[in-house]
Amino acid sequence: MSRLRLLNPGPVTLSPGVRAALAGPDLCHREPEFFDIQDRIRSQLLSVYDNSAEDWAPVVISGSGTSAVEAMIASLPGADDTLLVVENGVYGERMTRMAEVHGIAHARLHIAWGAPIGPDALAEAIQAHNATHVAVVHHETTTGRLNDLNAVHAVCQAHDAQLLIDAVSSFGAEAIDFGPAVTAVAATANKCLHGAPGAAFVLARHTALEQATTRALYLDLAGYAAKQAARGTPFTPGIPAFYALDAALEEHRAAGGWPARREHYQTLADQVGDGLAARGIDELVPRAQASCVLRSYRLPAGVSYRRLHDHLKQAGFVIYAGQGQLADDIFRISTMGNLDATDMDELLHVFDEIIAS
Ligand SMILES: *Cc1c(COP(=O)(O)O)cnc(C)c1O
Repeated sequence: MSRLRLLNPGPVTLSPGVRAALAGPDLCHREPEFFDIQDRIRSQLLSVYDNSAEDWAPVVISGSGTSAVEAMIASLPGADDTLLVVENGVYGERMTRMAEVHGIAHARLHIAWGAPIGPDALAEAIQAHNATHVAVVHHETTTGRLNDLNAVHAVCQAHDAQLLIDAVSSFGAEAIDFGPAVTAVAATANKCLHGAPGAAFVLARHTALEQATTRALYLDLAGYAAKQAARGTPFTPGIPAFYALDAALEEHRAAGGWPARREHYQTLADQVGDGLAARGIDELVPRAQASCVLRSYRLPAGVSYRRLHDHLKQAGFVIYAGQGQLADDIFRISTMGNLDATDMDELLHVFDEIIAS
């Protein structure tokens, strides 16, 4: 198969350095060499947003992004707590499913896909349900909307609710303010950090981990935290994914951290957005409210997603379909990964072929 440039929201096109790291040496995960890597990853994860080890525990889990989100949701609300899940896309709805599966007392604040979270509606819902915890998706990858974390945080703080954040598709590229109401943030290696799939993580406050609940064996967040703090691991980790994350975090830091990555994504996303607008293709979410990571576009009249996808794939680009109710209306383009302006120029050129055909 010839080289494909991935414009789907993870896994991403890897840098040569991260790809080479995947083929690191065979290693036993009970040996000090592994714990050196695990320690380095944990400390680098804290450094991405300058979190102090005094307040925050970095917990790495071998699994996809969902494993980290589920470990967070399944572990942090206690038996007497109530979780309010804010839904404005697939990933918010998935957290509600997690609460159902794990028997957590919960309520939903359901908002139309793509619509913003209203602070007043959030405040009312917290009060109506006596919610102790609020779960929210930072960047709703379903639509490309970047939810306003600062506004959500302010409401949670005013109502004494703890905030649990799915930052799977924003960690490493968008601003995240770890304010006092933020209790845990879950994310993954293979989106904005440019690692490989198979490693995910949660940054959780020590104070929350001390009161955590065990509702699952593999996804017991406090269990991982305790083992990893003592240079241990409960299960066999995905060692190649750890190698890749270690290399990816170093590249992320060396390239200027999350502000530089945001700038880079934003420039590419604007290049694509402007180029598609000039070809009559509109964005779904107003730009000021969209993430730097991914944009949703309305399918041009008379062009099916299948035709668009297949033609682009033939030319070396993988785009992403809309989910659920948006499947027939939109396509999505992410600018995460080892991509540059030349890649986007080539992409726009292929759009010309498709529109002309
Ligand atoms: C990608 C994504 C997930 C799930 O990640 P998987 O790695 O597929 O499990 C969860 N939440 C958001 C916001 C995502 O973009």
